[in-house]
Amino acid sequence: MLANPAQNVAPARPVVLTLGGLDPGGGAGIAADILAIQAAGVHAAPLVTALTVQDTSQAYAYSAADPALLDAQARTLQRTLPITWVKAGMLAEARIVAWLQSWLTESRLPLLLDPVLQAGGGGTLSNPDLLPALRKLLPWVTLLTPNGVEARQLAGLDAQADLSTCAQVLWANGAQQILITGGHEAGDDGTLTNRFYQGGELVWEHTTPRLPGHFHGSGCTLAASLAAHLAQNYPLLEALERAAHYTRQTLLAAYRVGPGQLIPHRCQPC
Ligand code: PLP
Repeated sequence: MLANPAQNVAPARPVVLTLGGLDPGGGAGIAADILAIQAAGVHAAPLVTALTVQDTSQAYAYSAADPALLDAQARTLQRTLPITWVKAGMLAEARIVAWLQSWLTESRLPLLLDPVLQAGGGGTLSNPDLLPALRKLLPWVTLLTPNGVEARQLAGLDAQADLSTCAQVLWANGAQQILITGGHEAGDDGTLTNRFYQGGELVWEHTTPRLPGHFHGSGCTLAASLAAHLAQNYPLLEALERAAHYTRQTLLAAYRVGPGQLIPHRCQPC
């Protein structure tokens, strides 16, 4: 093969390997991840864990990928791409989590886990065996980014449990750092608060006015942007600020493609 002269001068980019479900409506999951990661100047290597059936209103069904195929894809990429972070969203089934756990044990790559159990608009995106499997994965998680509902479910607490108790339980079960996003918390003061915990303790929080409307894939956008900023080596709190700012811009510029949730406008610079 002839050498390409541009090869030596083209700028290099870090790579985030992102695992998630394919939303054929193009609003959430792996499609959202790719755009948010690229917007941060990082290359996205997407591994599709499940094909879903959904529209902008709700999810109806999915078919999970074969973990042997994911294993072959991850190992092939790892041989040649400079992967520095792994981001996982929809993992669908316990057998995919078990594969991820063993691959991370070998590769020692840091994992940002944005746990996906249900679609934002409604409809399940997980097998009943997923929740216990995700609990076992917590010791492999460098940064966990659940919303309040997912945090309580993962911690095995009831729907009224306070978030600091959740963070302590999740930390005691192995998650090193936890960002609990506020989009799903009931609050009548018109604001939304994201809270970041290290060692089970609150170390950062950020409150913004709650935007009107429902958005498809807003959690995916924040988590993917965060993974990309970490892959760019930003210190954690700066990565949080930058990813939160980018996500808010995508929501402010969200557009409509149908009767359901709005789509964040992700093709804009961070
Ligand atoms: N991943 C997939 C494939 C999805 O379809 C969804 C929501 O529908 C999500 C993740 C989670 O989306 P959100 O960021 O809205 O929580």
